[in-house]
Amino acid sequence: MKITFCCADTHPRAWIEGLRAALPLAELSVWQPGDPQADYAVVWTPPQQFMDEQPGLQAMFNLGAGVDGLLRLKLPAGVPVVRIEDAGMAVQMAEYVCHAVIRHFRELDAYAADMARGEWTFRKPRQRRDFPVGVMGLGVLGQRVAQALAHFEFPVNGWSRSPRQLAGVTTYSGAESLEEFLGASRVLVNLLPLTPDTRDILNAATLSRLQPGAYVINVARGAHLVEEDLLAQLESGHVAGATLDVFRTEPLPADHAFRRDPRITLTPHTSARTLREDCLAQIVGKIAALERGEALTGVVEGTRGY
Ligand code: NDP
Repeated sequence: MKITFCCADTHPRAWIEGLRAALPLAELSVWQPGDPQADYAVVWTPPQQFMDEQPGLQAMFNLGAGVDGLLRLKLPAGVPVVRIEDAGMAVQMAEYVCHAVIRHFRELDAYAADMARGEWTFRKPRQRRDFPVGVMGLGVLGQRVAQALAHFEFPVNGWSRSPRQLAGVTTYSGAESLEEFLGASRVLVNLLPLTPDTRDILNAATLSRLQPGAYVINVARGAHLVEEDLLAQLESGHVAGATLDVFRTEPLPADHAFRRDPRITLTPHTSARTLREDCLAQIVGKIAALERGEALTGVVEGTRGY
């Protein structure tokens, strides 16, 4: 079995060693132009040339949950694209989002600023019922986040494409219920995949439908958010703060307006990191399942874009 590795911004050595330890009989290589056809590929934002030269793969494993970077390319027909499902990312996402929601809810930034000024002030406790959180996307990551928030007894709403049932979460589905979902939410957490339907979905129209004093937490993709619309909503006071992990341009330019706004908390696309051991175990398990002729989960449906 031949496995080729073609991952931008990733040091291949440890990945190849991990694959070799798990699949000692496999022939492993870091892809070079002109290489012979492989059976399987592990990829992250590969070049178009890779796709053109590897039309006969049995499967292509995307080294991440989001496949938007891959689906921009012209993919070889009939090659299944398999994405990473969880592999240690869901718990990271849950801790990141819960931390952000709780920081906003408990006004921890304001307390820290008070203390830095030498003050000792108490703010009126907020009520959870005034702080409903809406999670956009109820997939592998969104479900875990919604359930973690429900565990902290926040009222939680969830929005997905098809109807979903989730304990402790009021669910909405489809474009026709988006307004109602937004109107029922004060904090908006975005965990949608980036597709033609979801690009720019955090915009003036949707943000203004949130309850006043809103907070926006974007942990999915930068292109979901119309950045100037968020700044305008902050300026009007309708949105009180934001926590952003992903940006239209990454790395975020040093002079970007977001960097100067104290109401915005920024992190460098780190809310849920790819964990090598967990990902390798998942990919190796899925290759074994394919070799046994079994069906896989996590196969991307090109027509819906995720
Ligand atoms: P899933 O594919 O498991 O879930 C996607 C969810 O979004 C599903 O509930 C789906 O609905 C819903 N959805 C898709 N399109 C629409 C639409 N048009 N309208 C309403 N709902 C829609 O993805 P994951 O949970 O694994 O990952 C989500 C995203 O998180 C990734 O695509 C990636 O961009 C991002 N991510 C970010 C990371 C970071 O570090 N910042 C790390 C990992 C992922 P349905 O249930 O009906 O299918």
